[in-house]
Amino acid sequence: MINSFLDTPIEYLKGVGPAKADLLKSELGIYNFYDLINYFPFRYVDKSKFHKIRDIYNESSYVQVIGQITHIELVNKGRQHRLTAFLKDNTGVIELVWFQGIKWIKEHIVKDKEYIIYGKPNNFNGKINIAHPEIEILLEREKKDFEYQAFYNSTEKLKSKGLDSKGILKLICNVIQNTEFNVEETLPLYLRKELNLLNLKESIINIHLPKSIELLEKAKFRLKFEEFFFIQLKIANKKNKRKLKNTGFNFDKIGDFFNNFYYNNLPFELTNAQKRVIKEIRTDMKTGRQMNRLLQGDVGSGKTLVALMSMLIAIDNEFQTCFIAPTEILAQQHYKSLTKLVDGLGLNIALLTGSTKASERKNLFSYLKDGFINILIGTHALFEDTVIFKNLGLVIIDEQHRFGVEQRSKMWKKNDIYPHILVMTATPIPRTLAMTLYGDLDVSIIDELPKGRKPIITWHVLEKKRYSFYNFIKEELNNGRQAYFVFPLIKESEKLDLKNLEEGYETLKDYFKDYKLGIVHGQMKNAEKEAEMKKFILGEYNILVSTTVIEVGVDVPNASVMVIENADRFGLSQLHQLRGRVGRGADKSYCGLLTDFKISDDAKVRISTMCKTNNGFEISEIDMRLRGPGEMEGTRQSGILNLKIADLVNDVSILQLTQQIVNNITQNDPFLENINNNLLKKELYFLKIQRKDWSNIS
Ligand code: ADP
Ligand code: MG
Repeated sequence: MINSFLDTPIEYLKGVGPAKADLLKSELGIYNFYDLINYFPFRYVDKSKFHKIRDIYNESSYVQVIGQITHIELVNKGRQHRLTAFLKDNTGVIELVWFQGIKWIKEHIVKDKEYIIYGKPNNFNGKINIAHPEIEILLEREKKDFEYQAFYNSTEKLKSKGLDSKGILKLICNVIQNTEFNVEETLPLYLRKELNLLNLKESIINIHLPKSIELLEKAKFRLKFEEFFFIQLKIANKKNKRKLKNTGFNFDKIGDFFNNFYYNNLPFELTNAQKRVIKEIRTDMKTGRQMNRLLQGDVGSGKTLVALMSMLIAIDNEFQTCFIAPTEILAQQHYKSLTKLVDGLGLNIALLTGSTKASERKNLFSYLKDGFINILIGTHALFEDTVIFKNLGLVIIDEQHRFGVEQRSKMWKKNDIYPHILVMTATPIPRTLAMTLYGDLDVSIIDELPKGRKPIITWHVLEKKRYSFYNFIKEELNNGRQAYFVFPLIKESEKLDLKNLEEGYETLKDYFKDYKLGIVHGQMKNAEKEAEMKKFILGEYNILVSTTVIEVGVDVPNASVMVIENADRFGLSQLHQLRGRVGRGADKSYCGLLTDFKISDDAKVRISTMCKTNNGFEISEIDMRLRGPGEMEGTRQSGILNLKIADLVNDVSILQLTQQIVNNITQNDPFLENINNNLLKKELYFLKIQRKDWSNIS
């Protein structure tokens, strides 16, 4: 929380003129003292420890050495200028190199004086040197037993104005060593006691100027806790308010449609996870409040069926429903499979996509308005204002990460009372991340695949094994199975990608002479694409060559082989999605990940992960470790990941702790009205007016 001292604009700080103030604002978003003390270091160095030159290796991270500069060399070669200083201690000599700021160094370095230098060793032509080290005269610093120095991220622009890491630290000291400095506590005493948390003021002081390792650790813990805690609390608060505000339709009936389907049409037994999730949805739709739920389930876990059964509940309660998919192919496929599933129940199902003809639309719209259509399936076309329902009760959005937040919220407005919303995703993300990111949605998880599914056998196929792998594919094709070949988007240019794909297609046609091959890609007209897909679905093609347009949802149970060319160029979640196109019916399915011999280390991890596991949640954990949470599919739009100090990968245990504590608090006191939670309410309000807004997902 802010007080008047911390609220002081940054230009009033000693050492900050107008120019520096402008840069602090534009480069780091620091507007006042409060922002400055909340700019946290990314690293600490124990300045009481020194290295011997003899012990410095190329791989050493930062090192600190005391030594004398014996001599200096200046090189001026054409445009290249370089200054090399030779630093010596009693174990050896190391070169210090400057390419910039040469003049200053030359004028200030005094030979044979003792210096402390600090920097990162590099290997340069087989010799180890340190480029642009920090350097200070030993006498300037009194030696202490403990001296942890904080390091801050800076930028070129800031550095040019003297605001490198040290410069920033100096400014921070000017604030926290001021007699007026104070930080008001944000967490109630009962919480701090229970969790043995350092108070906020001490935490801020120690994060910048640690007095001991123990205090530094406690400060870090407190501030990370604080950061996660208020994100969670804010989401929970928002969710509670929304629940209170948004009344919803009460679907308390289970009627003939649901029962007839369940007893007569259901083609297989539901998995336990499906049963559990349907129950969760059902319970949620009869609370009298609007449902806003995310259904997560791995590829092939049977989300469509759950969606259908939820729609049947809505229809039993005399409401209309709609089902929105991100592509035309998918919408068509859902239309077909749902129509088949509800055969004989007497339901009216319609399809609306971008290519629905105007004349058809007219009829469709009037049937929709009359309430004649029970289920409308379609694409983005459904968002349009011309699509008007008589009484829309439930909206299902498949592959929700493909839609923007605004698009999704359009569906809310199709009724005076908001319809229930179920969004589905087959891109599993780690649970911890889901709870943070989608914290204001309720989450249902299908964590079980239908019985009898065999894991897809996955191989890393190196170039030299390509043809023996192709021969294996021929055997599968001869057994009546089908195969996908997927080519990556390599270049930014769509034309070049197409060329890459078409060349691949021609080569494959030669090799698989006796088989029929189809091709689909993003540049084709929808009708063409549909036609090709259809032939593959009907088994007229043995092989489908494509780009990642087939990535989501496409369901051809007879396909048993997925070949991914240049697999090292795909992200993990994409590989997993693509692989999910097979293993949907065949006894055994296979996935070949083709790459060159030489691939990056990250690519190796991705591919070995794919070969090791079929579990999408496990894969997403590894994906998050490799790429960082901010790069995960579906997270990019969320500012929630601009964390100041906490880390979604390394601080998961703290995140879980805060989740648990926020749950406890909001269960007993959803609107923070208890006097003990007064501080929390105040801080939430403060964060809100500060517009440090994190997310708005649903
Ligand atoms: P996703 O969750 O990826 O959308 P789908 O809903 O497309 O998965 O289901 C994948 C396949 O599994 C479909 O062919 C579907 O008919 C089948 N399926 C769904 N539920 C079951 C079940 N309980 N038992 C057997 N097969 C199922
Ligand atoms: Mg699906």
